Amino acid sequence: MPSHTADRPPLSLSARVHDLHPSPIREILAVVGRPGMISFAGGLPAAETFPRLDGTSPTDALQYGPSEGDPALRARIADELAGLGLDCAPERVLVLSGSQQGIDLVGKLFIDPGTPVAVESPTYLAALQVFRFFGARFQPFSSTTVSAAALRDGRPAFAYAIPTFQNPTGHCYGDTERARLAAACGEAGVPLFEDDPYRDLAYDTVSRRPVCADLKGSPWIYQGSFSKSLAPGLRLGFMTASEEFFTLLVRLKQAADLHSNRLSQWLVLQQLESAGRGARMEKLVAFYQRKRDCFAAALDKHFGGLADWQAPSGGLFFWLRLRHPIDTRSLLPLAIERNVAFMPGEAFYAGEPELGTLRLNFSHASEEEIDRGLGVLAELVVDALNG
Ligand code: PMP
Repeated sequence: MPSHTADRPPLSLSARVHDLHPSPIREILAVVGRPGMISFAGGLPAAETFPRLDGTSPTDALQYGPSEGDPALRARIADELAGLGLDCAPERVLVLSGSQQGIDLVGKLFIDPGTPVAVESPTYLAALQVFRFFGARFQPFSSTTVSAAALRDGRPAFAYAIPTFQNPTGHCYGDTERARLAAACGEAGVPLFEDDPYRDLAYDTVSRRPVCADLKGSPWIYQGSFSKSLAPGLRLGFMTASEEFFTLLVRLKQAADLHSNRLSQWLVLQQLESAGRGARMEKLVAFYQRKRDCFAAALDKHFGGLADWQAPSGGLFFWLRLRHPIDTRSLLPLAIERNVAFMPGEAFYAGEPELGTLRLNFSHASEEEIDRGLGVLAELVVDALNG
């Protein structure tokens, strides 16, 4: 396990965080809830004016709340993250308005125009968009070759990775890749930002240990989401980080939205504590596993000889590489004309895209639609090849 506190290079934070101060109002609000406190601070609406909820929901879920998140939910999340091997305590859990918010906060924390950021390529499109928006210059890395020397050379402000059931490739790092990334970041002192929204959707037995769990003494940020395991409309995710980042991330969160939706937080806590949670998750995983298998069979039927792919062990995507690479962006309008949508792979690359790649989501369409839709896509590929 890398442990490199002594010779760690200084952290490279964005210029804007030098002006990031705690919100005086938020600090006062933290004590307003004390019994007997008369508050003329803040702008708390009177609870008696709130709409009536059903008998089981707490009214205080409609009042302003703590930026870090509701304490019971933070404690529950901390328990689970500690169970994965992460160095995590309730005080270092930040509830997010979707893990997409975590990507935005990390962008704000580190990136100025021209800041180098190490990313897998291809990687999550909306992370590239956010980092680009703040002015990042990308340094693509791969889990099979990443090294401390390469990270030291490029001096990225942080490395962003989705080691478990990656978006868009579905790839899940094996133990060697996990150890390689931990060693590279640890030895180079480059903070790792690990994005882990798919970990609960595992259909095969594979290694899912967070890479951040093996970064002892070196900076890291880890985030997850309730979007895939519960529901994306709740807009709830969570983040934990090594000590040096946590307070800054909370301040950035305060500036962004004060706090995440408290009704959603309450609903998620109910789900996490419900006796039926284990059975529900088993059912969810079995449901998607069947879809994955059905999608793999339909790919064999329609794309055998046309493309290469590996069935993902988890997550929501197949990643196809056409044997004769054509720019799949040109196929999209033709596919849409025939009522089939897919994501051309080119958009997921940080640099020069590899042509002839497609990201196909398998969780949403019915089995009949999967067969029909893949049949249409294969026909379009054959037509383009015959050209
Ligand atoms: N990270 C990755 C890798 C994702 O694929 C997604 C959603 N597609 C997100 C973050 C954002 O998810 P959410 O905001 O719903 O938690």
